[in-house]
Amino acid sequence: MRHVVAALLILTLAWPSGAIAQEVVTLEGSFRQGGLVTGRTQPGATLELDGKPVRVAADGAFLFGFGRDAKPKATLKVRLPDGHEELHTLEVTQRDYRVQRIDGLPPKKVTPPPEAMERIGQERKKKAEAFRADLPESWFRSGWIWPAEGRISGVYGSQRILNGEPRRPHYGVDVAGPEGTPVVAPADGRVVLAMPQMYFEGNAIFLDHGHGLKSVYMHLSELDVTEGQIVRRGERIGAIGATGRVTGAHLHWALYWFRLPLDPALLVPERPGSRG
Ligand SMILES: [Zn+2]
Repeated sequence: MRHVVAALLILTLAWPSGAIAQEVVTLEGSFRQGGLVTGRTQPGATLELDGKPVRVAADGAFLFGFGRDAKPKATLKVRLPDGHEELHTLEVTQRDYRVQRIDGLPPKKVTPPPEAMERIGQERKKKAEAFRADLPESWFRSGWIWPAEGRISGVYGSQRILNGEPRRPHYGVDVAGPEGTPVVAPADGRVVLAMPQMYFEGNAIFLDHGHGLKSVYMHLSELDVTEGQIVRRGERIGAIGATGRVTGAHLHWALYWFRLPLDPALLVPERPGSRG
């Protein structure tokens, strides 16, 4: 059975008798835990999701996401340039997540030795900087494709038990493929990080798609882009590899709205097992 993952929601404001209803906000995307929603409102409108401001582009485009454990309802507040305010309740479909056990990882990659902590700390700072960026460009509107061919070997949200120890959930989708399989940009964006040999991530690339939306590619065998470069959807950025904390060659593809991990598999056509 195919899951229904995309929905289109048009919220209109009914003007007093006789006038034509005017569109306040259009929402499109996945209204479920891990889902990304994109939309349009009137230029100059302001938006808040559960009290948190949402960037609105000059042409009215915006995006927001729901986290792994998002509550069943979210509130979207719209304030139009004329001062009119509306509250909309959004229903967020709840998901069940798998438990994934991975054994045979090198022990130092599960619990890093003290001498690795400084390097991990520096890498964490660079990542935090990348996540904070809030660019006005709306590159995410190019649409999305899978970044690589291959079998799905891990899904978003699974509870992970590494060498028998419970760890944070798996925030990404894993695409297994032979080393050297091309990895392409799934949407337009700018390369914000292209780092060789990170402790956990291996050779890794972070793309910024605007409005706080970032996508991440880990364990690559090679980096074919440099920081600051603009990439277009479908353009090659690297290749599948086995660098960093891995048991075999695969791409770990992750998606974040600022620091909130979203499920990238909800943006692209379903593959066997890709939606958990
Ligand atoms: Zn992964």
